[in-house]
Amino acid sequence: MWKKTITFIIGILFPKKCPFCEELMDITQEQTICDNCRAEISWINEKMGICSKCSKPLVDKSKSYCYDCEKTKHHYYKGRALWLYAGRVQDSIIRYKFNGKRGYYRSYVTELVKCFDKQKDWNIDIITSVPMHKYRLRERGYNQSALLAEGFSLETGIKLDNKLLIRVKNTARQKDLSDLERIHNMKNAFLINNTELEGKNILIIDDIYTTGSTLDGCAAELIKNGAAKVYFMTLAIGKGL
Ligand SMILES: [Zn+2]
Ligand SMILES: [Zn+2]
Repeated sequence: MWKKTITFIIGILFPKKCPFCEELMDITQEQTICDNCRAEISWINEKMGICSKCSKPLVDKSKSYCYDCEKTKHHYYKGRALWLYAGRVQDSIIRYKFNGKRGYYRSYVTELVKCFDKQKDWNIDIITSVPMHKYRLRERGYNQSALLAEGFSLETGIKLDNKLLIRVKNTARQKDLSDLERIHNMKNAFLINNTELEGKNILIIDDIYTTGSTLDGCAAELIKNGAAKVYFMTLAIGKGL
């Protein structure tokens, strides 16, 4: 009874909107995405044939890995994205990152957790996020990945350490660089702020997976400091090859 009342009051104070079309949603139904957008956006799912490493949809369904993962040795162990980075998904994430729509994180987190619950063999000890350099954080006001990791930890009960990674270089924006430049850009961009990582499995949460070089930069540093396996979860992933 109380839970229902509280949910109702929160719903009036902070109306929940579909993160893809901004339509108001029925809070009593715990809806996170409107039915129309749910049907419209491109979900990544195992049945379509996805890369065993990065979860990108496979062009050649007879293979286990996508072209990119076949030619690149990733430092992370494996990961999963929710959607393809296109259309409504792309617009939604841009609003979330750059237009102050931080409230979207509630819907995003619910979907991330639903997908995470299906990854039975991950055994995660610590959740963290990709850090932002302090200058950029000041410019934007919030770190979109840290917000996701926070919500994710609250819902799953897995330990959160958003200060685990420190960004030591104010790297160039990845989207403006070529693949090779991206890898170079992320080299030594991070430091670790925890000495007790021995044998731990870490899950890094981020918004978009493009080439994986940011996540690899983080993963390399975590592994160097004793972590066993590094996994990732992102909202979206680029199509790749
Ligand atoms: Zn919608
Ligand atoms: Zn792949």
